[in-house]
Amino acid sequence: MGLIVQKYGGSSVADADGIKRVAARIAAAKRAGQQVVVVVSAMGDTTDNLIDLANQVTPIPTGRELDMLLTAGERISMALLAMAIGNLGFEARSFTGSQAGIITDSSHGRARVIDVTPGRITEALNDGAIAIVAGFQGISQDTKDVTTLGRGGSDTTAVALAAALEADVCEIYTDVDGVFSADPRVVPTARKLKSVTYEEMLELAASGAKVLHLRCVEYARRFDLPIHVRSSFSNLEGTWVVKDRPEGADMEQAIISGIAHDKSEAKITIVGVPDRTGVAARIFQSIADADINIDMIVQNVSAADTGLTDISFTLPKTEGSNATTILKKIQGEIGYLSIQYDDQIGKLSLVGAGMRSHPGVTATFFAAMADAGVNIEMISTSEIRISIVCRQADLDSAVRAAHSAFDLDSDQIEAVVYGGTGR
Ligand code: ASP
Ligand code: MG
Repeated sequence: MGLIVQKYGGSSVADADGIKRVAARIAAAKRAGQQVVVVVSAMGDTTDNLIDLANQVTPIPTGRELDMLLTAGERISMALLAMAIGNLGFEARSFTGSQAGIITDSSHGRARVIDVTPGRITEALNDGAIAIVAGFQGISQDTKDVTTLGRGGSDTTAVALAAALEADVCEIYTDVDGVFSADPRVVPTARKLKSVTYEEMLELAASGAKVLHLRCVEYARRFDLPIHVRSSFSNLEGTWVVKDRPEGADMEQAIISGIAHDKSEAKITIVGVPDRTGVAARIFQSIADADINIDMIVQNVSAADTGLTDISFTLPKTEGSNATTILKKIQGEIGYLSIQYDDQIGKLSLVGAGMRSHPGVTATFFAAMADAGVNIEMISTSEIRISIVCRQADLDSAVRAAHSAFDLDSDQIEAVVYGGTGR
């Protein structure tokens, strides 16, 4: 008998009808003879609504209480889903992350899974039941407090469980039919990828593609666990995330697999920084000490007459005020002139393993940006990715231009966005 882990996102279980529809799919898998473990997210926009509520009672909720609050969202959907499956004549048992043995470190709001001890899940399966697990949550090994894995973390719960249970596959059910060459909400002619490698998917997820949680892809790669991303609203085959793309598959997408975009970052420019050894180290150490993740960095050539330079870097908008406060504190010590904060930037990333062996990708990309009238403000690259920063207002047209320049457009509209409020 095969063991399958299925994960259903919030838009798939947005209301009672959605829950019943998902229950029917799960029952079908069970009827087909599979052992089934299901990971479920909170219904619709529940998590966002809970965060709004927390912010109405205090401007700075503590991590511990916020995590306790947010995990309630997944508890609601898991219990309802178990009931709906029961109504179809199958036994289903729901478990919180802690009951399912998801053991994490203690960083609230972004905990890492450090161990998975799914004894109760195995027990339920052995009894012939379907196990339903609340996504995105666990319990801290040290403090025994309830933790969450970060927004979108249910994907990671699913992959972590699939790895621990040695499942054959982890199916991630979402509101689109798979991983597309670009966000279909921005590029209606985006094409569905039949397969994508872990390496490419990591770059896409890290660059703002929201279809899979970054840590879930890291986890799947570590355990070489295939992920099948597909829609819970259709029966179409989705996208396989695997180690190597099958020989001869998707030849047409050999160079570029996909384009990700991100509007969630801001840019800080430190103006008039003395060009001395150790200054950059001091700046970025203070940012790192506050646990702020930065992304791109650009340092200008210093002006010969003044010996001053400008340093720009990007970071999540949510860390913007934190970072500027920290930098102002060290202004006297470093002696820079001023700081500029810009939250109107957009980032576009072109990802494809084929880039390694094909010269000219950058030239084609930049020519497309020029033709679309998009000014490039920052650039960063990896072996299989080129990212640029531009004005946020230009980002959608930049994505469309790059998509066409690499012949990624599909002849027919493949992408259907079935659910979700886009929140
Ligand atoms: N409900 C959580 C969120 O909205 C976790 C998840 O959906 O994966 O971020
Ligand atoms: Mg969600």
